[in-house]
Amino acid sequence: MTSSRFGYFWNKELSLRNTGALCPESPARYDILAPNRVFTDGIKYQHCDFTAFNPRILNSAHDAEYIQHVRDAYKNNIRYLDARDTVVTEDIFDKAVLSASAGCHAVDKVMQGELMTAFCVVRPPGHHANRIRGMGFCVFNNVAVAAKYTQDNYDIERVMIVDWDVHPGNGTQEILYEDPSVLTISLHQADLFQGTGEESLTGRGEGEGFNQNVAFPGNIKPDEYIKRFEEVIGQSAQKYKPELLLISAGFDAHKNDHVSQIALSDEDFAKMTDIILNVTQAFTKGRTVSVLEGGYNIGSLLSGVRAHCGVLSQFAETQSKKGNSYV
Ligand SMILES: [Zn+2]
Repeated sequence: MTSSRFGYFWNKELSLRNTGALCPESPARYDILAPNRVFTDGIKYQHCDFTAFNPRILNSAHDAEYIQHVRDAYKNNIRYLDARDTVVTEDIFDKAVLSASAGCHAVDKVMQGELMTAFCVVRPPGHHANRIRGMGFCVFNNVAVAAKYTQDNYDIERVMIVDWDVHPGNGTQEILYEDPSVLTISLHQADLFQGTGEESLTGRGEGEGFNQNVAFPGNIKPDEYIKRFEEVIGQSAQKYKPELLLISAGFDAHKNDHVSQIALSDEDFAKMTDIILNVTQAFTKGRTVSVLEGGYNIGSLLSGVRAHCGVLSQFAETQSKKGNSYV
């Protein structure tokens, strides 16, 4: 039997970053997503361990001064990178580099044809971190690093990032705001955290038109959310023709996660995954790397990830049977 072309990137090391009892971005979020807990119902997957890349992978998304700041933060007695969310632990730099490396390993395997789809379980998350600052639990911008790593190492001109975490992907937006080679789309609840996800923010300079925000009211009905999601992603994919899809997959828009009012179900996360794969596959040939962002209710994080991975796995299986290959 050939192994699954859906890769699940999980490394126990990342659960060791001890952010303390008060921080919702906890080791428990990581442990609950251990492969033996997620894949209990026959979903096919390939467990991929990963190691840390050379920290130079961060240079495309972060200023050298900020990278050094994180490296020295603990010994400089800094306890938070921001006001009170992003805890500085003794191992913050090593864990954040390892976290940012997962997506790059997944890109390698997807670009080399060993995998078609991948899900990276990472912490710290990344989408709030901008070039010069960590915030909102995020240290380095895992998905922006993966996007630039792809373009630096492979013949890929257009990458699309879809961020469905319930908070705006402000860091990803800022890093890539003038960059037309990465289309960033963030769908989120309006006015949550930072307040930077306005729909009027569409990019700047050469990047004008390559940043898209969809700000939903908190009381939007799930059916309406999905309808708008399909319209936006479908139209943008047709227009942009991305060669690789990256997903900033947060699970905090789940109805059981009370950091937001948006109330999606596990089935909605499965639908979103299905939509996004189907509208992009003509251009990406299925090449998709999804990276964990938020999700703070342990139960719905597990069930949401399970639903998401079920579709990523099935898609890789179906496409492989059809003989779709790009190498
Ligand atoms: Zn979030």
